[in-house]
Order: sequence, then C-alpha cells, then structure tokens
Amino acid sequence: MQRNDCKLAQDLMPLRIEELLSEESKAFVDEHIAACPPCAQMYGYMQATLPKEKEAQQRESASFKAAMAQFQKTMAWRRIRYILTGLLIAALILALLTALNTIRKPLALDKFDISLKRTQDGQLLEVWDYHNTSYGGNSYTHGGTDKEGNYIVYLNHEVPLLQLGGYTNAAKHYQLSSFSLQDDGNLYESDLVFHYASGSWDSGTSTQIMEIRQGTEKDYKVLYRAGDTLPAAEQMELDAARRYLPYAPLTAENPAATPLPPADNAMPFAPKQETPVLTAAPAN
Ligand SMILES: [Zn+2]
Repeated sequence: MQRNDCKLAQDLMPLRIEELLSEESKAFVDEHIAACPPCAQMYGYMQATLPKEKEAQQRESASFKAAMAQFQKTMAWRRIRYILTGLLIAALILALLTALNTIRKPLALDKFDISLKRTQDGQLLEVWDYHNTSYGGNSYTHGGTDKEGNYIVYLNHEVPLLQLGGYTNAAKHYQLSSFSLQDDGNLYESDLVFHYASGSWDSGTSTQIMEIRQGTEKDYKVLYRAGDTLPAAEQMELDAARRYLPYAPLTAENPAATPLPPADNAMPFAPKQETPVLTAAPAN
C-alpha cells in the first residue's frame, strides 16, 4: 500500500458515504479501509458527522426556500395590490371624465346666432349658426309661462364641461320647429293630437308665444316678440331643414314618427294618407 492511496481514499470517502462512486472506486475505498486502520477510523468519523452536516444544510436550504417563498408571495400580493390600485384609479378617472362629459353648461351667447324665418305654409324655421365651429352637446327648445302669464320659449345649446366624443352639431343647421304661424300672423305652440279613428291631426290647445329667446332665463337675447314679422325662409334653407329632419319628432301623441308633409301642406306634421295603420274604422 502506498502513501498516495490513503490520500486518494480519504478524498473519495465523502462520495462513498453518499453512494456517489462507481463500482470500481467504491471497491478501491472499501478495500483500502479494510486494510488501513487510520483510514478506517477516519471513515467511521466521516460516516458519523457527514449526514448531520447534510441535514443541517438541508434544514438551512429548507428555511431559505421558505423565506424565498414568503418573499415571492409578498411580492405577488404587492403586485396584485398595485394592479388593483391602478384599476381603481383608472375607474375613478373614467368616472370623473364621464361626469364632466355628462354635466352640461349653456354655450355662451356670442358663440352662436339663431335666426328665425317663416315658411310659406306657416311653419317656423330656425337657422342655428355656430360661426363655423362645432361643439359637443345638443341644442334644445323649452317653453314656459313667466310670472306675467306670458308663454316664453328658450332656444339654447348646451355643451359638456369636457368633450369626450366627437363634435355632434354641424357648424350651421336648419331646423323646422313645431311652432306655427296662424292666421293672425302670430306664432303658436300647438299640442297636435292624432286621432286614430279618423286618421287625422287636430290641434289641441294652442298657446301664443309672446317671446322667443336665445339663451337661458338668466342670460338671453330676444329673437322674436309677438307682433314681429319674420322674414321668409329661402328655398335652400327649407331644403336643408328637410334633409336634416326627415321625420316628424316623436311626441306622446305621435309615438311612431311620421314623415314630414310635402312643403305645400298646411298642417306641420300631418301624416301621409297611408300612415295610420293602427286605425279602427270610424264608429258611425
Ligand atoms: Zn490509509
């Protein structure tokens, strides 16, 4: 036996204990231990201590893994929290933008003009001129009786505090209103009532319009006063109005929109002959 054999056998001992040696190397170590008491003693000592070291290592490694897992879990939660917070902030911003888009304010009076014209068949034609600018929101008409009992009509345009979508109004538009000029030359708002039995429109109550104002109760300019003579609408303006308003507006009395009458028809929204389908034969 050579001195070198001891060195080699001792080097291989840990691997022998962990059963990591080839059969040949294993035989070499076993034979050497059997023949060399100092190496046998060292091998015994290694056998006693190595597994403990390994266990300790494993324990360390296990607690490291646990710490790592805990860390990853914390990171995952943190990431989820960031995502949730981000989503919440996005939702709040969206809600705020939607609110700003929904809340309307009147368009300033100097941003647009409205001229009122009369048609040959006694309708009122409104020309809304937005000075070559498009705004969001919508134009609207509302009437009401003031303290003196005068029926006043307001024409106005409301824009969103913040415009999100496209700009809806044309820079200029022509609109036939439901107000009509009657024989006395004054403008009236009529509640037209459609009678299914006879298939005809009748005026209900007619209210004389004392003033038409552009703007709001607080800030307005007067466009028309009872007694004023309105200028006649031009053919081009009438054509434009009929293009933009192909159907009569929906009302409680007129739940199914009906086509506009031909220009020479005296009744503003009289239906064509074939329109009333719901009709029952007259009771007589
Ligand atoms: Zn030896």
